[in-house]
Amino acid sequence: MTSAEVFQTLVPAEVLQTLVPAEVLRAYAGRPGCMCGCRGRYVTTPVARAEAEVDGSLDDADVSETEVTRVLRLVQAAWCEAGAEGLELDVGDEFQYFYAARGRRVHAVYLTMAARARRLAAASAAEEVSS
Ligand SMILES: [Zn+2]
Repeated sequence: MTSAEVFQTLVPAEVLQTLVPAEVLRAYAGRPGCMCGCRGRYVTTPVARAEAEVDGSLDDADVSETEVTRVLRLVQAAWCEAGAEGLELDVGDEFQYFYAARGRRVHAVYLTMAARARRLAAASAAEEVSS
């Protein structure tokens, strides 16, 4: 593996596996296809609510740290099975999101701006040391 490949594959997995619910802006659970929310549900945490509401107001029912934690654990578990048949994984540019789909189920977590900035800075520093 070249260092660029290491950066693209190992670093995202490492970032994901060390994510905590406080770094999650929104978590999604639903069916594949449209991600607007018509096929599933987005939730946020109390601390991320203000940032999540930039895209529109939220109901109290959309704020659940328990549900964010549940979805985060599912995405993390799916990434541990990378390469499994029928499992689709994706990571957004600059750690915007982590995504896992299997069959009719999609789970994804989107990171807060603060978490993305912190994780990117850490990943860049690690890459400089290794190259
Ligand atoms: Zn839709």
